[in-house]
Amino acid sequence: MSGELIFDFPTGPLDRYRKNATFNWKKLKIFLETERIIQFKDELYKEIKKYPILYSTPVTQTLNDIRHNTLKKMYTLLSIPSIQSFYAADVDESIAMATVLYSLDTSATIKMSVSVALFIATVLSMGTERHLSYVEDLLEKKILGCFCLTEIGHGTNARGMRTQATYDVNSKEFILHSPDFEAAKCWVGGLGQGATHAVVYAQLITPDGVHHGLHTFVVPIRDPNSMLPFPGIIVGDMGEKAGLNGVDNGFVIFNNYRIRRENLLNKNADVDESGQVLLFLTIIVFDEKIS
Ligand SMILES: Cc1cc2nc3c(=O)[nH]c(=O)nc-3n(C[C@H](O)[C@H](O)[C@H](O)COP(=O)(O)OP(=O)(O)OC[C@H]3O[C@@H](n4cnc5c(N)ncnc54)[C@H](O)[C@@H]3O)c2cc1C
Repeated sequence: MSGELIFDFPTGPLDRYRKNATFNWKKLKIFLETERIIQFKDELYKEIKKYPILYSTPVTQTLNDIRHNTLKKMYTLLSIPSIQSFYAADVDESIAMATVLYSLDTSATIKMSVSVALFIATVLSMGTERHLSYVEDLLEKKILGCFCLTEIGHGTNARGMRTQATYDVNSKEFILHSPDFEAAKCWVGGLGQGATHAVVYAQLITPDGVHHGLHTFVVPIRDPNSMLPFPGIIVGDMGEKAGLNGVDNGFVIFNNYRIRRENLLNKNADVDESGQVLLFLTIIVFDEKIS
């Protein structure tokens, strides 16, 4: 089986070193990866080879070209059926797929992970039916997402985030506001140029002035037709980085920017029209055998 599964390297100057090996590298590879996963990766590589746009280019590119090509690569990857079924894959296949994609193009893979997968995963895991249209629009390429948690003043300490979402009972809207520069959302992958929508983490404040902690909102950032930011939003590009330049990292500052009440991702908690916070208990059963 191993003979059909793993081919010999082409002969060359490294042959004499390879012959010195004191173990069978093919057996070791099968032991480490399993035949199933080697076959899975092999099929994925064969499929990817059909798309020359995914091959790396030897030409030095401008920042704009890198980003443009990364976007094209991301949409090409998303069009490949076995990559579309990423979430249906088991854990071993998911890890194998990530290994293949990261070795192919780190920027395109990360862009796909944050602008598409992370956005969708957050909306699906924290939202309800009323948010499904965002997922549909994203899969139909009408919008592009991003994930806004980190602020200039807070990264690891997520509870310390200071962006505010104050409920206005008269208009039945949330008012998103960055109290100062340190509360600007920053480093957000995909926000610099391409994102039209963001999942935003903000401190929920009800009309009685009570702070209810960090909640998640889906927020329109740019008009998908003109790509211009909506009034009340200051959004910008963090520019060239030491690496991973296919991903356009950005920042956003909210200036009393209003979003609909329904934009709160409300699986675990909601705010009703009168401004009351409703908490929902979610019990997740991981293993039926645990009593
Ligand atoms: C390229 C890039 C892309 C990014 N993309 C996104 C994105 O899409 N969306 C987003 O929201 N964020 C994004 N981030 C932000 C990233 O998630 C944060 O950088 C990360 O959360 C760490 O925050 P920080 O940089 O403010 O570091 P800090 O939180 O200030 O931490 C600095 C150091 O102190 C240590 N430290 C912090 N707290 C403690 C503690 N209590 N005890 C011991 N040690 C501690 C940390 O381990 C770290 O070494 C991105 C960052 C980069 C660089």
